[in-house]
Amino acid sequence: MADTETTNRAAAIFDDHNPPPPEVYNKCVHCGFCLPTCPTYALWGEEMDSPRGRIYLMKMGNEGTARMTESFVRHIDQCLGCMACVTACPSGVRYDRLIEATRAQLRRRYRRSPFEFIHRQMIFNLFPHPQRLRAAMWPAWAYKASGLRAVVRGSGVLKLLPRKLRSMEALLPAISLSELRANMPARIPAQGAVRKRVGLLTGCVQRVLFSGVNAATARVLAAEGCEVIIPQEQKCCGALMVHAGLEEQALDFARNLIDVFERAGVDAIVINAAGCGSTMKEYGYLLRHDPNYAERAKAFAAKCKDISEVLTELEPRATRHPLPLRIAYHDSCHLQHAQGIRTQPRQVLKTIPQLEILEIPDAAICCGSAGIYNLVQPDTAAQLGDLKVKNCLSTRPDMVVSANPGCLVQISSGLERAGKHVPVLHMIELVDAAIQGTPASALQANGHKR
Ligand code: SF4
Ligand code: SF4
Repeated sequence: MADTETTNRAAAIFDDHNPPPPEVYNKCVHCGFCLPTCPTYALWGEEMDSPRGRIYLMKMGNEGTARMTESFVRHIDQCLGCMACVTACPSGVRYDRLIEATRAQLRRRYRRSPFEFIHRQMIFNLFPHPQRLRAAMWPAWAYKASGLRAVVRGSGVLKLLPRKLRSMEALLPAISLSELRANMPARIPAQGAVRKRVGLLTGCVQRVLFSGVNAATARVLAAEGCEVIIPQEQKCCGALMVHAGLEEQALDFARNLIDVFERAGVDAIVINAAGCGSTMKEYGYLLRHDPNYAERAKAFAAKCKDISEVLTELEPRATRHPLPLRIAYHDSCHLQHAQGIRTQPRQVLKTIPQLEILEIPDAAICCGSAGIYNLVQPDTAAQLGDLKVKNCLSTRPDMVVSANPGCLVQISSGLERAGKHVPVLHMIELVDAAIQGTPASALQANGHKR
């Protein structure tokens, strides 16, 4: 298909509102150290699908020597935003800032096909809105629970659907009625003397599809002496929007969250979804041009902590019962690369007696979840998911554990494709089980499969 030019300007293809910053991309010295950790470069060996190639495209776009063609956009779209290149770069190139700025430009300046446009609109009009998502999940629950899914799959009718809709069907997580109905109270008291007063981010997708993870997080925090405040009026954090270039919507969500948690008056804001955490820690940068929020956003970001960070700051107080299990621990990209958090989840898991933590080969490579990536780039996501599953299974685990819900869905879907019945749990569910005294056999039998 011929490339489509979307601008008549002879020079830069980006407008003047936050183009990819030259002071960031000019730091790239083209050394190539980032290439081996880039999932798309690992798959295809294509320079323009490497961090270095994409940075070059952004620079050319800014300098008016590249056009916003279909191939330009494809190379940018194919980036997972996993930030493995940020970890690998010895020159400190903040690729995250480049890709986010570029995607916001694409959003404003590139016309997608009608199907692609509608597909993306559907995602952004559903996932960041818990009430809409909950309403949509009832028929999804009935579809699975009634056995209709098995019939539909067996009939082969799904093959008639476009690939992207099939991938949405394949990624439908297992959800129970109690999870769909779950609501959290506004406050959960600490057990024993209060050590911290923390706010809990319930998330948008998280509170509907992973309410059990939120409940486990609150129970563990309370057991460790934290008073847990759960502001009921909180909305989405805007991470999905930031990653996809919907800048204005993202900033509105960020302002809402700042207002809400300022009113809550907490010492820390606890997050159990890595993609949300990495975005919330960047609010100071995202709102830097907003005179009413710039300083408040910095103060807010300084309070944001992943659940593993909070727990490692607290000497364990609640007794952990043994869990004699071999678990493959998968590092989420937005935890290990975007937030630099690798040791803390392992430290937390090591407080559980008899738990054996297995290291997965090629741990730095993304599983293909990457926010909405597995919905908009399903083939690449599935390839990466299959690779991750193969690496997980090579450790012969009893279960796979991660600290990010998106990864749990992605790995679970890969395990299903591989025909392997290995339970997949959030790290905090394991800690909660150890504190509650849930036997390992019950954890495995119940499966907690996504
Ligand atoms: S963010 Fe990930 S996929 Fe994108 S260029 Fe960097 S390493 Fe590659
Ligand atoms: S490692 Fe850093 S400096 Fe080297 S090519 Fe990659 S982005 Fe550029």
